[in-house]
Amino acid sequence: MKRLGIFGGSFDPVHSGHVGIARAAADAAALEKVLFVPANVSPFKTSAAPRASAADRLEMVRLACACDRRFEPCDIELRRAGVSYAVDTVRAIAAANPGAELFFIMGEDSLAALGGWHKADELFSLVVFLVLERPGCARNPVPPGARVVRFRGEPCAVSSTAAREAIARGGDAGRMLPPSVAAYIARRGLYRP
Ligand code: ATP
Repeated sequence: MKRLGIFGGSFDPVHSGHVGIARAAADAAALEKVLFVPANVSPFKTSAAPRASAADRLEMVRLACACDRRFEPCDIELRRAGVSYAVDTVRAIAAANPGAELFFIMGEDSLAALGGWHKADELFSLVVFLVLERPGCARNPVPPGARVVRFRGEPCAVSSTAAREAIARGGDAGRMLPPSVAAYIARRGLYRP
């Protein structure tokens, strides 16, 4: 049975923490493929649009995905109008991959709000959640009905916000980003004030 990872985010921009969590999840759960799915509109960020365009975010994800043969960009949410609910994405991926076992990758921070996700019960029936452990940090409770498997990875204290802020300050965000993504941002002049 095909084991397929789904990794959603704003990816504004995709950074080294994203690559690290996806790689650790793929190793831990023996995933054949990890789909990086940039959100059109994140349900948690409806008040502020992403800084970079959908096309730029997808291109950065495409560049980041080149570092691991298991990684694949997926534009399913960018092609769908409106708020990007995980359940809609997972339903479509399940239909396109009959018989595949689906795993949804996330950080511990995302697990905290999982119980309130749109159509949570349906989502819980479709995927197993792979959650990155944060050594030394308290575990969030698992919402009833969710199947959660925790895995370990190298901690990487990077966020898209920190990368955007560093670039806006004229600082060096290079250590936070895959080199090809840093080069693309510089070439396109993204995230400058
Ligand atoms: P922002 O700073 O704009 O809020 P972000 O860096 O948190 O963005 P998202 O695209 O919102 O990135 O995150 C998508 C997923 O990646 C979430 O499941 C989140 O838990 C996970 N994630 C984000 N940063 C890291 C990191 N440094 N290490 C591991 N997982 C991460």
